Amino acid sequence: MPQDACDVAIIGRGPGGLQAAIHAAGKKVKVIVFGRPERSSLYKAHVANFCCFEEIVSGKQLLEAGKRQAESFDSVFVEQDIIETKSENNRFRLVTENGETFSAIAVILAMGIARKKLRVKGEKELLGRGVSYCVDCDANFYRGMDVAVVGNESAAAAGALTLLGYAKKVYLVCPKLTITDLLHEQLNHSDVKIIRDAWVKEIRGGTEVEAVLLTDGDVLKVNGVFVELGAKGAMELAANLGVVFDAETFSFIETNKKQETNIPGLYAAGDITGQPWQIAKAVGEGCVAGMEAAKYAKRLARS
Ligand SMILES: Cc1cc2nc3c(=O)[nH]c(=O)nc-3n(C[C@H](O)[C@H](O)[C@H](O)COP(=O)(O)OP(=O)(O)OC[C@H]3O[C@@H](n4cnc5c(N)ncnc54)[C@H](O)[C@@H]3O)c2cc1C
Repeated sequence: MPQDACDVAIIGRGPGGLQAAIHAAGKKVKVIVFGRPERSSLYKAHVANFCCFEEIVSGKQLLEAGKRQAESFDSVFVEQDIIETKSENNRFRLVTENGETFSAIAVILAMGIARKKLRVKGEKELLGRGVSYCVDCDANFYRGMDVAVVGNESAAAAGALTLLGYAKKVYLVCPKLTITDLLHEQLNHSDVKIIRDAWVKEIRGGTEVEAVLLTDGDVLKVNGVFVELGAKGAMELAANLGVVFDAETFSFIETNKKQETNIPGLYAAGDITGQPWQIAKAVGEGCVAGMEAAKYAKRLARS
């Protein structure tokens, strides 16, 4: 099998993804895990209610131990965000923020919850009326309009580049931009207007978004504001694959008891499938998703 191909790819290396890796790799399939430990909800937590740990244990320690354990089963770790997902010819294609492409027979989505809010005036009031948290879901609504993307990580940069295909003008408000050289290069050679010396102070509008007030006093006249704080979010990656979300909040991925989504070969585990947001639930679902994804990958590889 080539270096960039695997049986099971796991997007996310919190407790859900790590447990999935341990159980999938335990079935002797090739497993690659994507993501960064410091972006797991658990990284800064101190945990007192996880079974078998009587003393308070640091989340960071749990994540480090989980990685070692998954590696001992031969899982491979790639410390990059996935910024694009596609399904083609019974395989999934995943693109990292460095532009590397991987293929997998089965994929487990374990990206946790990344719907971080800006917490500025106008954000809540204008949600769905110009304020969006999902470029891939909503870009089409902004054809020919002016938009701002807010965020300092890969999701924001990739989102701004995507929006260039739809919007007339795209601003990227990103005073602490930390992205790969490749994304930097793509941004620098694009028409995205990068704003590095200010943050968003307020989103203004009546019934719809009309402008963004920046901390340096400048006002950007825009019709849409995309809040992209963090890694490429679950919604975007999953929406690209045609995943069904919960009908009530449209925020969580629907799965059955085998952690299968509506897409064959695509599984989900952990916070991404809804509450309770707890390690015990994440590892339980990760275990099931890992075993089922490995079974699926073996079946498909034989056919
Ligand atoms: C302050 C705090 C305290 C907590 N305390 C407790 C507690 O005491 N007990 C308890 O049971 N739970 C606790 N929790 C909740 C617990 O941390 C979560 O339920 C658990 O971490 C969920 O695991 P997960 O694997 O689903 O997601 P996460 O742990 O959030 O991991 C998500 C992973 O996905 C990765 N990722 C996201 N997007 C991408 C992408 N595009 N490409 C690649 N990787 C991506 C991230 O980098 C991260 O590695 C706490 C949470 C917080 C915030």
